[in-house]
Amino acid sequence: MKIIEVGPRDGLQNEQRILSSEEKITYIELLVDAGISRLEAVSFARPDRVPQMADAEAVMAGVPRRDSVSYIGLVMNERGLDRAIASGVDEANLVVVATETFCQRNQGMSVREALRGTEKMVERATAGGLSVSVTIGAAFGCPFEGEVSTQQVMDIVTVVDQLGVDEIALADTIGVGTPVDVRRLVGAAKQITQKPLRLHLHNTRNTGYANAFAALEAGVSSLDASSGGIGGCPFAPSATGNIATEDLTYLLERSGVSVGLDFDRLLAASDFVTAKLGIATPALLGRAGWFPAPDYPDALTRD
Ligand code: ZN
Repeated sequence: MKIIEVGPRDGLQNEQRILSSEEKITYIELLVDAGISRLEAVSFARPDRVPQMADAEAVMAGVPRRDSVSYIGLVMNERGLDRAIASGVDEANLVVVATETFCQRNQGMSVREALRGTEKMVERATAGGLSVSVTIGAAFGCPFEGEVSTQQVMDIVTVVDQLGVDEIALADTIGVGTPVDVRRLVGAAKQITQKPLRLHLHNTRNTGYANAFAALEAGVSSLDASSGGIGGCPFAPSATGNIATEDLTYLLERSGVSVGLDFDRLLAASDFVTAKLGIATPALLGRAGWFPAPDYPDALTRD
């Protein structure tokens, strides 16, 4: 199981305070120092719609380039793809939303039109030397239409599977899913595609970690997480963000699944970004600490 750090993109995109490009670069450096090797660093959304990500080019110009680290840019349209290729990201993450209403509001087109556009963008991104993933947004539920059927999502998986992408992601954009939904969707997707599957989970209703474990058991290869659990949800103003990288690291490592991250350095990245954002960290491991504690002063005096 691989953790894909999305704090610099999904986390910062949904926080009120806008960090400077220098602060974002420092945050990314700390994450790379902690061992993160796939990182969604920026979004090439329209700057007037997502001002938090307006400096994507400046951020990409300053991130530490190492052979072992792959930088992902979120791409919403052709113009964004031009920017992504020019900025030097290693991967493009394209988005197709599962429901008509959300797709219209988000991209101003039908799902069918979005899939046609995605086909063109996959070709161009691949020709531009980028790896490509497609994320199916609102796969677990839609803020406008409510329940989303398995068939609706699988119809999109079927089309995307034929596009020559490197990975397919299912996103619980509004954090409504449960482990049963993870098993249902991942199980159905595996009937359709051999591509590596990635899950994008939010902990909006505290089901994020249970969902992550269900994903592990269902054979998902990668999980998105944000350090500190930063990032809210634009459709639920007081909601918490993604599942937290450090809490997910604890869950997986203590379950015998190595993710290759330095825990103390992860906490340093979380402390840095939450201090800059001026928010309390939703993640719990920074407060509770790892177990067993390596040096617990009064361990012997407790019963
Ligand atoms: Zn998200």
